[in-house]
Parts: sequence; structure tokens; C-alpha cells
Amino acid sequence: MPINQQQNMQSTAPLLLSRPYNFSPGPATLPVAVLERAREEMLNWHGSGMSVMEMSHRGKEFTDIYEQAVVDLRELLDVPAKFKILLLQGGGLGENAAVAMNISQGKAADFVVTGGWSERSAQEAVKYCDVHQAASARTQDGYFYHIPDPQTWRIRSQAQYLHICSNETVHGVEYQELPDLKALSGQNLPLVVDASSHILSRPVDWSKVGVLFAGAQKNIGIAGLTLVFVREDLLGKAMPICPLIWNYELQAKNNSMINTPPTYAIYIAGLVFQWLKAQGGVSVMQERAIQRAGLLYGAIDGSHGFYVNKVDPLNRSRMNVPFFLKDERLNEEFIAGAKQCQMINIKGHKSVGGMRASIYNAMSVEGAQALADYLKFFAQKYG
Ligand SMILES: *Cc1c(COP(=O)(O)O)cnc(C)c1O
Repeated sequence: MPINQQQNMQSTAPLLLSRPYNFSPGPATLPVAVLERAREEMLNWHGSGMSVMEMSHRGKEFTDIYEQAVVDLRELLDVPAKFKILLLQGGGLGENAAVAMNISQGKAADFVVTGGWSERSAQEAVKYCDVHQAASARTQDGYFYHIPDPQTWRIRSQAQYLHICSNETVHGVEYQELPDLKALSGQNLPLVVDASSHILSRPVDWSKVGVLFAGAQKNIGIAGLTLVFVREDLLGKAMPICPLIWNYELQAKNNSMINTPPTYAIYIAGLVFQWLKAQGGVSVMQERAIQRAGLLYGAIDGSHGFYVNKVDPLNRSRMNVPFFLKDERLNEEFIAGAKQCQMINIKGHKSVGGMRASIYNAMSVEGAQALADYLKFFAQKYG
């Protein structure tokens, strides 16, 4: 079956032959339309005589690119006016430190550990404030399979914020909805959300959020850009050691241009935002994500144990699908066969092993279907 698809691709879409389905966790696949547009505009952006890479970040051309990107992003995610949108550098890891320096006031912060990324966030924040795990889903053998029930979280009254990772990229665990900290803690505790690997794949309930951040290289664009959404009342609390470039209040006052922003990464993100709007926006992305994930989990669960994913079905990620072959001696064969069928980057994270398919917004439903077909084909051949 996968062989047929390969022939189809050869006869009808030569582009796909040189561009296999790429399940990389990040930097990740981009919409072809965005890459083509970037190519068209590469040498001479809109008659300016310059590539975007060659423009001053303070010039009229780049200011237009920047402002359009922010307007489109605000529209796509329906971001209320009381949230500032910052376009920074430093990635998700940088934000783990930046958030602590901006809103912990050197006091205390609580974390819910549901996978490798929230665990690393807690480790980073230790340098700046007193850290406590309000809950942890880590198992004896170091895996993560579920989101602990928010009713069981032990939230401290002195915490200045509570941090979650709403989609665990490595372990494939995703919150279905954001926790309501007002109801859980009885106080006005800000929720900090690391949404790096599923931003723009579903709407955000901003009434529950204090700060939300995301690196661009998973579900938006290219590496080098980090989006930060911060509620206005949380500005102005930065610790004196906070670097200027990560000071939310100062960056908000300066349109994120205290120093040179990652101009080309902002430009590509802006093209992706336009592409998302043309596709029908976040609700369409959500529908497609449900379809893609349904195809892959369906193939895994339907394999009678040939493939295994142990994450609680209620907390399975729609973006990152980790799975193991029951017989791990077939791993290399599985990866090589996938490559022959034009599917690449399905090896699991080094800390976990096994396989992982990352199926972000830019992955077509056909791509997920091709991988689901390959899963069935391979299981039939070796099962
Ligand atoms: C990739 C990732 C990070 C780290 O991002 P960097 O840009 O490499 O610092 C943090 N959190 C999550 C959820 C991620 O997926």
C-alpha cells in the first residue's frame, strides 16, 4: 500500500518526491506555500530592493512586517487587549528563566511536572526562586502517562505563579483544557503556560492565563523566535538581575525592540500566520489536528499490541505521538522502511527511545494517513 502511494507521488506531485513527509519534532516541517513565498521574496521584498534579511529592524519595511504579524497573531488566537505580545529570543528554555525573573520576585513558584519539559522548567527556576512540585506524574521508570487531577495539586499560598507545560513534546502528554487556578487555589495565582509545541493548534482560554510562551520552531515557523503573551498586571515586577532583553515590561514598551529582534524568523512566522488565516484559522487547525491524531492513535491501538502508546487516552497529545514497537529489534527496519515510503524523522527522543511522530499544523492529513497506512503495512508484514 505505501508503495502505491510512492508511485502516486511520482506521477502527480514531483515536489513531494523531493520533500518527504517530515515528522520532525522541531525545527519542523513548514507549509510549502510559505517556503515558496519566502523564495519569491528572497532577493527583493515587495520592490524594496532588499531581502528581509538585509533590512533595518527600525525601517518602514520591517516595521510593516512586524506589525502585520502581531495583528494577525492577535486575531488568530483572539488575544485580549490586556495581554502584551512580545517577540523575543531565547527559546522555551530561555523563557523558563525569564518567567522566573519577571514574576517570581525571587519568592516562590509551583510546578506541575507532566513530562520532560515541565521538569526542566522547574530545574531552571530553582536558580531564581524557591521551587515546589505541586504535582508530578513521573513514574518509577521515568516516564509520564497522564496529567494529575488538578484537584490533587498541592499549591502553596506563597507561590507567585504556577507553571505547566500544556503539551509535553517528548512524552506526548497534552492538557485537554487549561486548569482554572482561581477555583483551585482560591487566589489570583497567575498560570504560566509553556505552549511551545501546540500553540495555534487550538483556541486559548485567556481568562485562565497569566503568561503563555512558545518557541516558534515547532508549530509556527523557524528557530530563533519566541512568542510571549503576558497579562498587563504582571508587568513591572522583574528582579534586578533580569537581563534587559528579557524584561517583559521594557520589551512591551519598546515593541520588543530593545535590541535587534530575530527579523527573518518574525517574517517567516508572519507568513505562517497569513497561511493559517487563509486555511480558516485555529478552529480548522484544531479539526485537522484531531483527524491526524485520530489516524495515528487508531493505527497504534488497532495493532493488537504490535505498537504501544501508554499515555492515558484523555491526555494523549494531538501534536506529538510517541510509540514503541513491542519487538524493539525491528526498530531500525521500521525506520528504514518508513524512509523508503517517503516518511522521515520518526525516531523517538533520545531520553525515551522508540518512535515519535510529530504532526503539527503544517503536516497534512494525507501525511498522517500515509504514516497510519505504513504502520498497518509494517505490522502485517512482521506481526
Ligand atoms: C522544544 C521545547 C522547549 C525548548 O525550546 P528551545 O527553543 O529549544 O529552548 C521548551 N518547551 C517545550 C514544550 C518544547 O517543546
